[in-house]
Amino acid sequence: MAIPLEAQAETQYVVPLRFKRAAFTYAGFETPELDTRGYEMGTRPSGWGSSDARGPMLGIMNGQEVRVKIERERLDEAAPVFVTSTNPAIVEITEPENGGPLPASGIFKCKALAGEGDHPVIQARLGSAEGPVLAELEPHTFSRLRIAITPHNVRIDGAGGNGTRASLTRLADILRRVRKIWRPCGIDFTINATINDNITLGSNITDTFDNASTWAGDIRQILGLQRTRLSLPAGTNDQSINMYMIDTFSNPGFVGYGISRDTADSIGSDTGIVINCAGVNGNEVQEERTARTVAHEIGHFLRLKHVEEKNAADAVEYTYGLWQLMYPKSWVPADARIKEFGNGTRARGHLITLKNHQHHSTDGECDTARRSIRDGNWT
Ligand SMILES: [Zn+2]
Ligand SMILES: [Zn+2]
Repeated sequence: MAIPLEAQAETQYVVPLRFKRAAFTYAGFETPELDTRGYEMGTRPSGWGSSDARGPMLGIMNGQEVRVKIERERLDEAAPVFVTSTNPAIVEITEPENGGPLPASGIFKCKALAGEGDHPVIQARLGSAEGPVLAELEPHTFSRLRIAITPHNVRIDGAGGNGTRASLTRLADILRRVRKIWRPCGIDFTINATINDNITLGSNITDTFDNASTWAGDIRQILGLQRTRLSLPAGTNDQSINMYMIDTFSNPGFVGYGISRDTADSIGSDTGIVINCAGVNGNEVQEERTARTVAHEIGHFLRLKHVEEKNAADAVEYTYGLWQLMYPKSWVPADARIKEFGNGTRARGHLITLKNHQHHSTDGECDTARRSIRDGNWT
């Protein structure tokens, strides 16, 4: 079949093939997001060396096998495509055998075997494994870094008597989704045993956290539960992300707080996440939203800022901004553009950027997050 090509300028780029995420659904261990923001490779952390590749970037945790899709843009459906790696000792093409020809789905598998930020180039070739290169993808391999999450089921007592103990009925599944979102960065979470806490807040309302007048006091009290429990001396911090599940917030529709080190220092509290359970349990859309909220707040703990440092009131409006985990709002606008990134429910996307485009002050999120863990300064 002929592919029509209209000459538009003296110099014209033709894109025969495109690398894409294998499945545009919720995050999956084997279907990582790709950083497809442009063909420029951006500024690179020192350990990443140089590259003359042009294409998207892909992060893979060492030992992990992932699926990636090649979409035909300007190439006959019948033309055989093969996939090769310039260094199979670091990233190996595991399916199809011998790299091709690709099946009609366009999906191939590759596996990270070694290295830390190392980058062979994955190349899509025409006709054979030695054929001309039609498209490139730069994978980065990461060793696994782990941090702990400590869930707390909080019972808020108050003027109405003892409260009911809050809990997320699908907590294990929600935290698994969080692990899937962070997997392309090689960042993983161990889940500590859930702790039961009872507390009477300054607002003194049974089952309720007061978002209004006593906000600062209530948040300090809840976030201090782990410090009190462990009798942590001043100047030391718990070495886990404490996730406090409460029944409800007084502000209807409010879903949670994530207090990272910067904010904690400014309000004189400990760090942690506070999540409502009423309205989440039994509601698939809210459960997915909760997983993305927790993953987003973890981003803040690991020193990530909102996309281009724009908060909810003036959030960026371009597609890739909505696609990112660090988009400042839980929900993105109803807009045809977002159908592609696996959130028909309109929860924010979950791309964590690998590329570092210099004009984007918050880019290179994967490297920033990994360095925060390495430097031990995220608690
Ligand atoms: Zn945020
Ligand atoms: Zn840009």
